[in-house]
Amino acid sequence: MSRVNTVLGSVPTEELGAVAVHEHIGYGMPGSELDTQWWKTPEERYAETVPKLRRFREYGGGTFVDVTGICNGRDVDYYKSLSAKTGVHIVACTGFVGGDTALPHFARATVDYLTRHFVHEITVGIADTGSRAGVIKVGVSRGGRMTELDKRIYRAAARASVATGVPILTHLAIDPQPAVDIFEEEGLPLHRVLFGHADDGPNAPNTPHEWIFERGGRIGFDTFGYETELEDPPFWARPRQERLDHFLSLVNKGYLDQLLVSADANCSPLGWPGVKGHTVNYLFTDLIPDLREAGVDDATIKTLLEDNPADFLTIRN
Ligand SMILES: [Zn+2]
Repeated sequence: MSRVNTVLGSVPTEELGAVAVHEHIGYGMPGSELDTQWWKTPEERYAETVPKLRRFREYGGGTFVDVTGICNGRDVDYYKSLSAKTGVHIVACTGFVGGDTALPHFARATVDYLTRHFVHEITVGIADTGSRAGVIKVGVSRGGRMTELDKRIYRAAARASVATGVPILTHLAIDPQPAVDIFEEEGLPLHRVLFGHADDGPNAPNTPHEWIFERGGRIGFDTFGYETELEDPPFWARPRQERLDHFLSLVNKGYLDQLLVSADANCSPLGWPGVKGHTVNYLFTDLIPDLREAGVDDATIKTLLEDNPADFLTIRN
């Protein structure tokens, strides 16, 4: 039977429901947890997060994939209690948002060491939580070019993915040639890789979408809702209609089965204020109505929110 690792145990793929495939319970830069200016009590974190997850459930959301890297505030015991209280499946990741957010202990590690660590978190568990990672996160460091450390992490992730059958999500899809080379050298089929943030303002123009599709990769339009129309938009915002038109153009070219959507929102950001007015529930309050308005049918919406993520997340072994 096909299954997916969640923080409360492995579940059959059919039980995932609608999936938000690239999200954060709380994301912060390494060290932000030591900064008293931003430190939050557990009560504050629950108060900010639980209502969003409950609403997610009410809208028909089933699974929330948290792709907060190892050093960016990932907190699996907390995710377990959130999942138990709200009924939302939460998938946790192993891996790193990028080489530039890996703390020195990991930044100095060899490919072999990183591979063993990722495989342990997928097959045995994350620290003493008993929860197994369901996806592997990798990414391109700031600067838009893969660094030597990024490449070491990508190679370890590819080996861990081949060994365990768990898929890989990337932070950024720019500079994909070295990434594709590594995945191919390690024998990882590209349909096990979701190239993320292919839709945001600064990165969309620099992402070779069709080049990735032609090689079998999947693409994440996973920053839906970060719009220039927001009251205080972040630097990665993009005009709402422009993003939607870009997305629909790829659907119309026949790439539906290789596309995934998400909001990349933070329920309770760590060490920064977050982006006001943006939550994971944008998928239900805005994206689905926008798609319907544009003439997209319910079967296509189900493919995007249920079938594609289920196919991607299923452990292949
Ligand atoms: Zn993210």
